[in-house]
Amino acid sequence: MQALRLKQWHSEPELEEVAVPEPGPGEVLVQVGASGACHSDLHLMHEFEAGALPWGPPFTLGHENAGWVHTLGSGVRGLEPGQPVAVVGAWGCGTCRRCLDGLETYCERPDLAPVPGGGGGLGLDGGMAEFLLVPAARHVVALPEGLEPTDAAPLTDAGLTPYHAVRRSWPKLGPTATVLVIGVGGLGHLCVQVLRATTAARVVAVDPRGSARDLALECGADLALAPGDDLVAEVREATQGVGVDVVLDMVGSDETLATGAACLRQLGDLTIVGLGGGTLPVSFFGVPYEASVQSTYWGNRRELVDVLDLGARGLLRSHTTLYTLADAAQAYRDLASGTVSGRAVVVP
Ligand code: NAD
Ligand code: ZN
Ligand code: ZN
Repeated sequence: MQALRLKQWHSEPELEEVAVPEPGPGEVLVQVGASGACHSDLHLMHEFEAGALPWGPPFTLGHENAGWVHTLGSGVRGLEPGQPVAVVGAWGCGTCRRCLDGLETYCERPDLAPVPGGGGGLGLDGGMAEFLLVPAARHVVALPEGLEPTDAAPLTDAGLTPYHAVRRSWPKLGPTATVLVIGVGGLGHLCVQVLRATTAARVVAVDPRGSARDLALECGADLALAPGDDLVAEVREATQGVGVDVVLDMVGSDETLATGAACLRQLGDLTIVGLGGGTLPVSFFGVPYEASVQSTYWGNRRELVDVLDLGARGLLRSHTTLYTLADAAQAYRDLASGTVSGRAVVVP
């Protein structure tokens, strides 16, 4: 089969012929229906040095996957060939305290995991291929009625990551709250919808691209603003001078973190989701009183079930541009040049 592979750090991925994997005991072979192109893959291709992560190339890209169960390894029960499924992306050991809590993103025995701190498309072969080998049946979740793999794939990361981040701040997102979403790309446009579906907060979105601001409004944002010298004043004006209760930063650059902190209200949450590499000096008088600055990473299996349910009910809908596997490298080039609206999704 063909697979889009990252062969070394600081390189563009290449299509290559690889063998179709055979599922061993407990494993599941998924026929890929769709695999999303995440901006994290661009960071991986261009910004990481050998040794910075406990894993590295070569591997097949694509950590945002859905499809159909194809073949079951021995001992797997409860799944049927042909059944539509989404793939839970982070693959931990399954038995440490964090994994038992469902937080395989924070597995504390990476030495016992299939790959330390990664998963399919992150150190191990991912979904930008016809088939994806999933190392344990708990990493696949049945799709609810009415949700196709092409709709479900983006929900496994671009939907799940904002859901996990928003959920952490639910107590601060009551009906009189305002939330600022910075960056309305793959994650951001679903973040706006997660906020709409699960809170009554007012949503202000920020993106330099006019098309992304239009998409934010289409997704339910109350206000969409462009970054620039007036942004902080515009956000303050939209909040009667007090600032926003929660900032969800899907970019994470020096500029966006500084903007987020300047827009934040006392007791607010500033959540860093984007891997933009920026820093924010935090000190007593440097951020609003009792503000919490936090990062979040992906989400867990239980949350994915919630997100897929929201998807099946039409409350979360990825705005998607489809690419063939032959064009998958182009999907990443388009993502890098900022011409993708919503999520680029590869259908092998
Ligand atoms: P994307 O390229 O689809 O979207 C990024 C958006 O940010 C674009 O719309 C872009 O126009 C906008 N943007 C750029 N500069 C901006 C600025 N100064 N102010 C406001 N908006 C700006 O990327 P994506 O796939 O949605 O990923 C977003 C970020 O989240 C990436 O850094 C990615 O690596 C990261 N990510 C983190 C996690 C996690 O678990 N923490 C998971 C997935 C992705
Ligand atoms: Zn991702
Ligand atoms: Zn573990």
